[in-house]
Amino acid sequence: MQDQIDKILTQAMEKIKQVENSKLLDEIRVQFLGKKGELTSLLKNLGSLSAELRPKMGALVNEAKQKVEAEIEKMKQIIIAEEMKMKFSTERIDVTLPGRVPKRGYKHPLRIVQDEIEEIFLGMGFEIAEGPEIDTDYHNFKALNFGDDHPARDEQDTLYIDDNLLMRTHTSPVQVRTMQQKHPDPIRVICPGRVFRRDTIDATHSPQFHQVEGLIVDKGVRFSDLIGVLKLFAQKMFGQDREIRLRPSFFPFTEPSAEVDVSCMMCGGQGCSFCGKTGWLEILGSGAVHPNVLKMSGYDPEIYTGYAFGMGVERIALLKYRINDIRLLFENDVRFLHQFK
Ligand SMILES: [Zn+2]
Repeated sequence: MQDQIDKILTQAMEKIKQVENSKLLDEIRVQFLGKKGELTSLLKNLGSLSAELRPKMGALVNEAKQKVEAEIEKMKQIIIAEEMKMKFSTERIDVTLPGRVPKRGYKHPLRIVQDEIEEIFLGMGFEIAEGPEIDTDYHNFKALNFGDDHPARDEQDTLYIDDNLLMRTHTSPVQVRTMQQKHPDPIRVICPGRVFRRDTIDATHSPQFHQVEGLIVDKGVRFSDLIGVLKLFAQKMFGQDREIRLRPSFFPFTEPSAEVDVSCMMCGGQGCSFCGKTGWLEILGSGAVHPNVLKMSGYDPEIYTGYAFGMGVERIALLKYRINDIRLLFENDVRFLHQFK
């Protein structure tokens, strides 16, 4: 039996020396030391030996087992070190390579302009109010003093969902909702958002565009307050030297009403091709809130006065960036949009 032990031991030592990875090493451990391993089996066979030989052989087998175990452990450390070294070299990161630069998005010119408009009015103490893009006939027309037979209610101009619901044609219904909510508290809000008309798209029209409307309701506010607000807006948006002028106009929800022009930023008011030789560019509509509109939303027109104004974000963007076709703002051609990075 001693020969057998020596033979197995030599064989095991030889195999361990040649092993190349931890998986194979484990297989060797099982082969010799496992439950059915070669050395383990020898221990089980001790019973067949004489009582005299049994302890001697048992000691020899155990000694051989310990030798194999020690050798396996020694080899294991070597293999782990090797494997770690391999892992580090294959997974090494070359820090000298330039990184992949992610493509960053940037704001659309309409968003840039709308943000700028909002900033200017927030700076003057206005709050921002928003409302639904689909609204009732009442909020969009009736509460704003549009008579039942007003031409703006024509199906040719407005996108109706049903008899009562429509795609809002301006952001003024948000002013109505704000008045209904806040009365009798004073109001100073702007209402930015998308609006919809039944227009065919061309260089100056789009069935969808953006407005920012403003509303001031308080005791003792005057038309000169409105003019001051609008002049400051024009100067912040188009330059410190800009002047504004008001021309009489008509809107159902304001009385009196005025179109507001800004002095041309290209020629400074001298007259050029950009301003059609007039020196002025129209930027918005405004007026004193009609007493009927105040009354319908809960304000007593004998005590409160209101001023409103409204502008198209597209129009401001076209003027500011000297763009000659509104379609460029909706076509999402990256060659165009890239210029606003
Ligand atoms: Zn001009």
